[in-house]
Amino acid sequence: MNAADRLNEIKRNIPENIKIVAVSKTQPPERIAQLYRQTEHRIFGENRVQELNAKHTLLPNDIEWHLIGHLQTNKVKYIAPYVSLIQSVDSLKLLVEINKEAIKNNRVIPCLLQFYIATDETKYGFSMDEVVQMLENPLFHELKNVEINGVMGVGTLTEDTKQTRSEFKILYNNFTQLKIKYFADKPVFSHISMGMTNDYQIAIDEGSTIVRIGSGIFGAR
Ligand SMILES: *Cc1c(COP(=O)(O)O)cnc(C)c1O
Repeated sequence: MNAADRLNEIKRNIPENIKIVAVSKTQPPERIAQLYRQTEHRIFGENRVQELNAKHTLLPNDIEWHLIGHLQTNKVKYIAPYVSLIQSVDSLKLLVEINKEAIKNNRVIPCLLQFYIATDETKYGFSMDEVVQMLENPLFHELKNVEINGVMGVGTLTEDTKQTRSEFKILYNNFTQLKIKYFADKPVFSHISMGMTNDYQIAIDEGSTIVRIGSGIFGAR
C-alpha cells in the first residue's frame, strides 16, 4: 500500500468529523506532493521550524501546515506568516511572542495549549495549574492576535493501553474544565488533539477531535 491508500483506509475507519493531520516530518517534499496529488488531503504536520519552512516554500499554498513540535520563541517569526495551527504552545512567553508576530503579519494565529500528560520526561507541555495561572494572568487577555482553539497532548510511548487511555482521559477532562470555566463564550475552543499511529483509536474513543498520524500514513521513518 502507498501513503494515499493508507490514509484512505484510516479515513474509512474513523468518524468523518475527526481531523487527520498527516505528520510528514522527515519525509521528503516529493512524498508530500504525491499524497497531495493523489488525495484531497491538505493538512500536514511538522515538528521542526526549519523543515517546515523549507517544505512550505516548495509545496502548494493551499496546504494547511500545523506545527506539532516544541517551538522556540526566536523561531516564531519564520512561521507566523503562514502557519495554520500551532499545536504546541507550552508557555505564556511563547504565546506573547506568537501574538507579536501575528500582529506584524496582520493576522490571528490559531493555537492549541499543549499539556504534559505523559510519564516520559522528554515531553513538553503545561500542567493544569500552569494553564490556569496563565488564563488568570491579565497579560493573557491582552493577546488579541492569538486564538486558543483547544488542547493538545502526546501520550507516553507504551504498549500499556490502560496507561494511554488514562492519559487521554486526563486531557479530555482538562479540556472540559477549561471550556466551562474560561472558554464558555468561545466556540472556537473546540479541539482536543490527541492520538498518533499507535494510539489514535483509543484517543478517538476518549474524545479526540484531531489525530496526528505519521508512520501510519507514510510508513516507518
Ligand atoms: C511524530 C509525531 C506524531 C506522529 O507520530 P506517528 O507515530 O508516526 O504517527 C504525532 N505527534 C507528534 C507531536 C509527533 O512528534
